[in-house]
Amino acid sequence: PSFLTVLRELTEIMIKGRYSLEALPIIDPHVFHKRHLKRMRHLGAGHFGKVTLYLYDPANDGTGECVAVKSLKQESGHVPDGWIKEIKILKSLDHGNIVKYKGCCTELGGQVMQLIMEYLPLGSLQEYLPKRKVGLPRCLMFAQQICQGMDYLHTKRYVHRDLAARNVLVENDRLVKIGDFGLTKYIPEGEIYYRVREEGASPVYWYAIECLKEGKFSFSSDIWSFGVTLYEVLTHCEPRRSPPNINYKNKKTNFWFSYLNLHIYFFHQQVKMIMEQCWSGDPAKRPTFESLTKAFQDIRQ
Ligand code: ADP
Ligand code: MG
Repeated sequence: PSFLTVLRELTEIMIKGRYSLEALPIIDPHVFHKRHLKRMRHLGAGHFGKVTLYLYDPANDGTGECVAVKSLKQESGHVPDGWIKEIKILKSLDHGNIVKYKGCCTELGGQVMQLIMEYLPLGSLQEYLPKRKVGLPRCLMFAQQICQGMDYLHTKRYVHRDLAARNVLVENDRLVKIGDFGLTKYIPEGEIYYRVREEGASPVYWYAIECLKEGKFSFSSDIWSFGVTLYEVLTHCEPRRSPPNINYKNKKTNFWFSYLNLHIYFFHQQVKMIMEQCWSGDPAKRPTFESLTKAFQDIRQ
């Protein structure tokens, strides 16, 4: 909210003669009022939450700002602990490659129901990449930005646990930010992993082997997920080549897991082989464009 908004709120409070300690949180710049939020459109949904674009327009004249509002899919009266944690974590983060917290919106009774963050107009990498011709240099730049954001997160001793293209948001053609801290956990000083027992549906295709086997999540398991994310970026999140977003449990895990690994492995092996052939010291051993065309056709199938 701008100074003008704050001033307006303040005047409102004074006029009503409610200038008391209780009324003070109302002018907290992080508190958004539901009545000023105008719904624009649905932005996306994951397993737990849904995100909607709103115009926050206290002046009610269309001059407000666009914000992304995340709420739980199931809005019962009860607010789960995990949800409050997600809000607190995002609030504590401040980095150019992490989506910015703006505030929250409380319902009557003071329960925190909605998380308000900056709106990233181009959506997630999963929506952005398949539609555009993003070259390798740009892909690598995005990869580096993801690493910068993750490095910062790790210095704060958080493991993200859900790093994937669907959770990387695009500000513009040159800037991406990490979002969705719904599964993020804090690793206390001196400890090396967070142990999850009996978890419901999880993004298993992004999980490292020790997460699947023993439920151990560490800074290095985020690195594994980054590997899968990098694969997604380099294949432009093409649905055909991507691991399924749907979160399967147990039985099917091993099957899909090995499928994904094989897929990634062969993809890289094949590309590497082609390069090596092109760079053969013996000109006669280099492939022809005809055979290369065929090779790429095969890989892309
Ligand atoms: P969940 O915890 O349910 O997975 P996310 O935080 O990942 O929820 O958000 C779901 C989807 O909503 C994202 O994949 C993305 O497409 C969209 N989205 C989330 N945050 C923003 C934002 N700040 N700006 C634009 N789109 C967003
Ligand atoms: Mg998500």
